[in-house]
Amino acid sequence: MVPGDPILGLTEAYNADPRPGKVNLGVGIYYDEQGRIPLLRCVRQVEQAMAAEAKPRGYLPIDGLPAYDLATQKLLFGAQSAALEAGRVVTSQTIGGSGALRIGADFLKRTLPQAKIAISNPSWENHRVVFGTAGFEVSDYRYYDPASHGLDFAGMLADLGALEPGTVVLLHACCHNPTGVDLTAAQWSQVVALVKERGLLPFIDIAYQGFDKGTDADATAIRLFVDSGIPAFLVASSYSKSFSLYGERVGALSVVAADRDEAKRVQSNIKRTIRSNYSSPSTHGGAMVAAVLGSDELRAQWEQELGEMRERIHQLRAGLVSKLAALGAPEFGFIQQQAGMFSYSGLSKAQVDRLREEYAIYAIGTGRICVAALNSGNLDKVAEAVYAVSR
Ligand code: PMP
Repeated sequence: MVPGDPILGLTEAYNADPRPGKVNLGVGIYYDEQGRIPLLRCVRQVEQAMAAEAKPRGYLPIDGLPAYDLATQKLLFGAQSAALEAGRVVTSQTIGGSGALRIGADFLKRTLPQAKIAISNPSWENHRVVFGTAGFEVSDYRYYDPASHGLDFAGMLADLGALEPGTVVLLHACCHNPTGVDLTAAQWSQVVALVKERGLLPFIDIAYQGFDKGTDADATAIRLFVDSGIPAFLVASSYSKSFSLYGERVGALSVVAADRDEAKRVQSNIKRTIRSNYSSPSTHGGAMVAAVLGSDELRAQWEQELGEMRERIHQLRAGLVSKLAALGAPEFGFIQQQAGMFSYSGLSKAQVDRLREEYAIYAIGTGRICVAALNSGNLDKVAEAVYAVSR
């Protein structure tokens, strides 16, 4: 037996809890006002059209649906990207963002066997597991500052600056999981300059594009790396959240290479890596995303629905902060500064245990809460319980 996944274990305990009014803030899923995972209207529309067409289900190419890969590139790099025009970017549809990370990790291990990787402290737990399993030595760089509930930017720069040239550095483009603490555009510019000067290899993880400021603004880090003229970097992207298609496993791995020829060589290597893992990705989710992004009308509808999710998260953050302040706990104001689905609430393990035992509110031991699991029906209860355990 190996240890179970702590987050999935928490959900099992939540499901088994008989108390009415229980709340699960441990998940990494966006729930709507009714507490359900939304099915976006644009997705429903293309899915109905696809069902009516009843097409045969052949295999996709190893690197996925070409229309999906192309649309993904435009979303990440910008439709007018010079790197795209120069043929420097190759994109492969993968089994979720997780698959993109793993294929990228396997590819890098094979191409640069001596390279190590540095991830933020803290980071999404699976980063360490994926890169460790691919054979990487994983270290971390300073990121979160518990005292300010914000970024330890000086520590981050110092640690990145001390990495050996050639080290892979995993960066969260936006909506950092688990802290909700992001870099400003000006801070990104400094990180990009340092990474380039130091000869590090960026691997950008973007699993929440559109969940903070919008699809373009949330891709700032990617655009800045392209503009910097850095010769190569990787991007693992996911539509799990932005399309609310979690179980469809829709992700992509993009690699920016020095030029068109290098990009072709990279692509041949990535295809071999995919082939030796799972042959080719699945059709249904990718076809739906490609259909939405490929139609001006549906694309606009998706942007609107994504904007609704984004706005609602901002409102939930504001609502939680103002309720806590009204109760007499103004020190939680930082929750409004944080971005995306998650917040490092600052609650200790003991306080999180009390939330669960006394109030049937489930959060992760680190104090991470999923803001997107709040709604007008549970917000007051959560605020009151957080206030009570924090006193
Ligand atoms: N990266 C981060 C930072 C994530 O939070 C997640 C999802 N929890 C992923 C990657 C993986 O995304 P997917 O579910 O598409 O595999």
